[in-house]
Amino acid sequence: MFQIFELTQDDPKTLQERTLKLSEEAGELAQAVLSVTKAPGSAYKNHSIEDVREEAVDATIVALSILAQACSSRSEFESELERLMSEKCGKWREKVLEQEASAE
Ligand SMILES: [Mg+2]
Repeated sequence: MFQIFELTQDDPKTLQERTLKLSEEAGELAQAVLSVTKAPGSAYKNHSIEDVREEAVDATIVALSILAQACSSRSEFESELERLMSEKCGKWREKVLEQEASAE
């Protein structure tokens, strides 16, 4: 997927450094969302919804590079991504369905 595994291998960051970077990107995403939604004290920063999209992708890329670093081959990375996304989204789907059922 977009050479995430190869890029991760070519970039000599440690797992700790990538995880700290993810926190930085999550903070940038929060700042953009606070600005776009005109949260008190944050609206003046003038972020756009495009900034929200960009920061969401920045955070996604770093999270995927953490997954890649925790895998020993591209095929393991891809199969773990597929397996875990399917499992986690399945659980999310179950929760959404439960919420819908309890709201009726
Ligand atoms: Mg960013």
